[in-house]
Amino acid sequence: MAQPQPTILHVEDERPIRRFVRPALEGIGCRVLEAGSRAEGRTLAASYTPDAVVLDLGLPDGDGKDLIREIREWSAMPIIVVTARDEEREKVAALDLGADDYLTKPFSVPELLARVRVALRHAARVREGAGAAEPVFAVGELSIDLARRRVKLAGADVELTPLEFKLLAELAKQPGRVMTHRTLLLAVWGPGRSNEPHLVRVHMANLRKKVEADPARPRYLLTEMGVGYRLADE
Ligand code: CA
Repeated sequence: MAQPQPTILHVEDERPIRRFVRPALEGIGCRVLEAGSRAEGRTLAASYTPDAVVLDLGLPDGDGKDLIREIREWSAMPIIVVTARDEEREKVAALDLGADDYLTKPFSVPELLARVRVALRHAARVREGAGAAEPVFAVGELSIDLARRRVKLAGADVELTPLEFKLLAELAKQPGRVMTHRTLLLAVWGPGRSNEPHLVRVHMANLRKKVEADPARPRYLLTEMGVGYRLADE
């Protein structure tokens, strides 16, 4: 069950951004806490244990990535990082540190709300099932039965190699969540291959040929440019 009123902590030093984010989040029934610095963010995160954090990485008193590290020492609360357009490496580093998702400035309200909804859904799943994934995940015509290791597209079985299944299953365990190349490499190939993103690309291309009607315009296996992939969630 979703909490009656989820609390979102917004850590952002730019007041105008806070001013447009607050009413948007309140509009979908959230309670909003605002912090203008890393120190304030840390204090509010610890005292209110919000349901999710929207975190700007460039803060006046330090790097938002350090706040991710601090929060991850004691909480798995969803963290959505906000980065400037030219901070691709920052974004990937933040995700590898345990952030759940990202937004690139300037972002739109619907984009923000979609990310927050995914984060809250994921947090609710974790609360209900202590981290257990849905036994069968379905989106559009694609269904992935994690327990039986069976994948269907429009009702027909899809034959996947064990590696392809593992890669798809990793994405399906947290639908909607962006997974970096590194996260996928560690989960599917293990620590020895974590610097070989081409492995993910090659197998993703094969997977797409099997589950996408048009592999060039994927509907389910979405590319996050320069970051990794996510499985469509709705
Ligand atoms: Ca900033």
